[in-house]
This record gives sequence, C-alpha cells and structure tokens, in this order.
Amino acid sequence: MYDLIIIGSGPAGLCAAIYGKRAGFETLVLEKLPMSGGQVLNTWEVDNYPGLPGLNGFDLGMKFREHAEKAGAVFAEADVTGLTDGPEYKLVHTTEGDYEGRAVIIAAGASHRRLEVPGEERLAGRGISYCATCDGAFYRGKTVAVVGGGDVAAEDAIYLSRLCEKVYVVHRRNALRAAGSLQQRLFSLPNVEMIWNSTVEEILGGQRVEGLLLQDKGTKMSRHLAVDGVFIAVGIVPDSAAFAGVVETDEAGYLKAGEDCATNVPGIYAAGDVRTKPLRQIVTAVADGANAVASAETWFLTQRMEVS
Ligand code: NDP
Repeated sequence: MYDLIIIGSGPAGLCAAIYGKRAGFETLVLEKLPMSGGQVLNTWEVDNYPGLPGLNGFDLGMKFREHAEKAGAVFAEADVTGLTDGPEYKLVHTTEGDYEGRAVIIAAGASHRRLEVPGEERLAGRGISYCATCDGAFYRGKTVAVVGGGDVAAEDAIYLSRLCEKVYVVHRRNALRAAGSLQQRLFSLPNVEMIWNSTVEEILGGQRVEGLLLQDKGTKMSRHLAVDGVFIAVGIVPDSAAFAGVVETDEAGYLKAGEDCATNVPGIYAAGDVRTKPLRQIVTAVADGANAVASAETWFLTQRMEVS
C-alpha cells in the first residue's frame, strides 16, 4: 500500500514524485516506458524553462528523473489499464498487476494526434514520423514537410531545417498558433517555406513516402508536393482512456480538474497535459505536480488519514 501512486513520469509526474516524498508520502511512480520524461524527451531545445534556456529536452527529462529518484520515489514499469475508487484506497490496475494507493495522481500525459488521411496508416514508419528529434537524422540533405501550426510544428521545422535541404510547413490556416519567438525564428530560415491555407488530402508513395496531395482551402485547387518524408505535428490527444469511466472528462477526453488538480473523485488528481487547462507547457505541468500533491496533503488531513 502506497500513500501516493503517480501514473506517468513526464514533468508533472516527476515533480509530483519530488513533492510527494518531501511531504513524507510513500510514493510510487508507474511509467509505461523504460524511460522517464514524457514528451520532453522529444524536444531538441527547451527555451522557455526558467533558468535553463536552451537546455536539451532529453537532458531536462533526465534531471527531473534523477531528482525524483534522489528524493526517494519508487519507480515501476507498468502500463495502467484502469482505476477503481474505494473507501479505504484506490486500486490501480496495470499489465503487471494491481497497486493500492491512498491517493492517485494521474499524470498520464498525451499522445500525438493522427492526421487521419489516406496513406497515413499504410506508410507509417516508411517516411511518416511524429517526432522530428527521433527521426530527423534519417532525412539529412532531403526534402520534408511538417504538417501543423503549433509550437511543436514550429520547433520541428526549426530543428529539421538544420538537417534537411528543404522544409515545407503545411498549415491549414494563414497564421500559426506557435509562440511568437518560434515564429520569428522559423520565418527567418532560408530553407523553410510556408504553405498556408492548405490541407493534406493524402500521403502518397509506393514503398515509402514520395509526396503529399495538398488542397488549397481558398481555391480548392489540388497540388502534388514531392517530399521524402512528412512530420505530423497536429496536436495531442490525452491519454485518459483508462480513467474515463472513473473520472469526469471534457468532450475532448481531458480529465476535468482546476488549478488544485482535484477531479470529481476525492483523492484522485489530474496533473499535466491530461488535465483540462489553457496552457500546456513544461512549467505548467510541473506546477500541476506540486499543486496535486498539496491538494492530496489537504485531503489526507481532512480524512484524518495517517500516512506511512
Ligand atoms: P497544438 O494543439 O498547439 O497545435 C496543433 C496544430 O495542428 C494547430 O496549428 C492546428 O491547427 C493543427 N491541426 C490540428 N488538427 C489538424 C488536422 N486534422 N489537420 C491539419 N492541422 C491540424 O499542438 P502542439 O502539438 O503543437 O502542442 C501541444 C501542446 O504542447 C501545446 O499546448 C503547446 O503549447 C505545448 N508545447 C509546449 C512546449 C514547451 O513548453 N516548451 C513545447 C512544445 C509544445 P489550428 O491552428 O488551425 O487549430
């Protein structure tokens, strides 16, 4: 029996682990992969984490993990399949068996959204990628397209511009939603070309990606764009399916919780990208980790629950 079970080891989960141990809780972190850090690991350069400008995302993820380990959190590799709320404790169901916890913080994060166009499934892994820092090196000296207009699309295009001969950014509107500083950097790159107001109708190719079929939303004209690879960066979907029957979600599947991270179920908290919130950043994820633990502490007090 743990005082606190944290599901997920991205910035929110790892910060919750540090705060959990500091609060004196027996703390278990369940992670799906043998690697902590979450989406941060796929970020080449994190430029908006205070005090550490320009730090590599992988290094930041490792630092978070080291800190949580040093604080004394216990880690276990297990894929969480469900959660049962009980009067005395919560039961976290995983592929490796069940774990009992007095409180649970769900920091399961989010996954890449698919474009859902013809060719995406057939050519998966053969010229289609959802992670520029993981796969960018395969496209050295080649021509690629990035699809999307958010922070990730802009970061990916900037990163790929250093490796690739040519980078197209295909966006469905005529303005990016990426941060202004990223846009400035992106627009200054000579080998990046924006293709505005365009949607990807199909990803084309035989054995590998050879191009994209694009449609201009204004003129409705279609065109073929020859590329060696496509990086899809059209947002994220919350990894909340395992909890949807227990914790209230919004229409997009995010777990409903405010700044205190408290869900509708007492003793269950949602932190980081899986929570309903206006700004999903590393700083807001780590803030959630701290807030969720503070809320759990208060709840323990009101329950007069003894912690280990
Ligand atoms: P966002 O949701 O911010 O952006 C998704 C982009 O994809 C939007 O431009 C959207 O278009 C476009 N899009 C969505 N669906 C489709 C579709 N079906 N076809 C074509 N285009 C589509 O997602 P990101 O992955 O960029 O970022 C996820 C979160 O992570 C954001 O909150 C972001 O701020 C955060 N982040 C934080 C970082 C940090 O803290 N350093 C770094 C990177 C990301 P439209 O604009 O028209 O809606």
